[in-house]
Amino acid sequence: MEPEKNNLRYVPKSVIKRLALYCRILHRIEMDGLTRISSKILAQFLGITPAQVRKDLAYFGQFGVPGFGYNPHDLRIHLKKILGTDRIINLAIIGVGNLGKALLSYVGFKTQGFKFIAAFDLDQRKVGRKINELKVSSINELEKILKDSDVDIVVLTVPANAAQEVVDRLVKCNITAILNFAPIRIDVPSHVRIHSVDLAMELERLSFYLR
Ligand code: NAD
Repeated sequence: MEPEKNNLRYVPKSVIKRLALYCRILHRIEMDGLTRISSKILAQFLGITPAQVRKDLAYFGQFGVPGFGYNPHDLRIHLKKILGTDRIINLAIIGVGNLGKALLSYVGFKTQGFKFIAAFDLDQRKVGRKINELKVSSINELEKILKDSDVDIVVLTVPANAAQEVVDRLVKCNITAILNFAPIRIDVPSHVRIHSVDLAMELERLSFYLR
C-alpha cells in the first residue's frame, strides 16, 4: 500500500535521496538480466546495512518476499512512482549563461525522464537563440509562458543578485519546486521546495580529505 502523498513530507530527506540511488542500481541490475535481488546485495551497493534498506522501503509499504528478495523491475517501477518520476518531468531554466547552456545541452536528462520545455534570459542577445532545439525566451515573458505551460521544476542559473527577485516571480506563477545554483540564501513560502546545489561547497568538503 502506498502512503498518502501528504505523509511523504515526513519521510527523512536521506531516505528520499537513497530512493533515487536504489532506482539507478535496480536499473543496472535489470540491464544485467537479473530477476531477483536481496536487501543484502542492494545494501552492499549503497554501503549501508540490509536492515536500513528494509527500513527505507517500509516507509512506502510492503515490497519483496521474505527469503526471496525483490524483483528489480517491479521495485524500480514502484520507487519511480513514489518519486514521481514515472512520467516525464518538465523543466524550465532561467539564466542561459555558462551553466545554463551546459545543462540545456546535456542529453542525459532526457533519458532520466527530465525535459526542458522553456528557457529564459534577460540578455536580449540570447533571446531567440536555440540551444539543443529549445528557443530562449525573454524573462519579460516569464509569467505569460509559465501560465500556458506545464513546468514542474524550475532550474535557476542566474547570478546571485538576481535570484531572489526571479524566485519571487516564480512563486507568483505557482511554481513549487526550484533547483537553485545561485550561491545565495533564497526565501520562499513554506509550500515551495527549493534545493540548492553548491559545487564549491562540495569541493571545499572534499578538500578537507586532501590533508
Ligand atoms: P553566467 O553569467 O554565465 O550566466 C548567467 C545568465 O543569467 C546570463 O545569461 C544572464 O544574462 C542571465 N541573467 C541575469 N539576470 C537575469 C534575470 N533577472 N533573469 C533571467 N536571466 C538573467 O553565469 P554562470 O557561470 O552560468 O553561473 C550561473 C549561476 O550559477 C551563478 O549564480 C553562479 O554563481 C552559479 N554557479 C553555481 C555553481 C554551483 O555549483 N552551484 C557552479 C557554477 C556557477
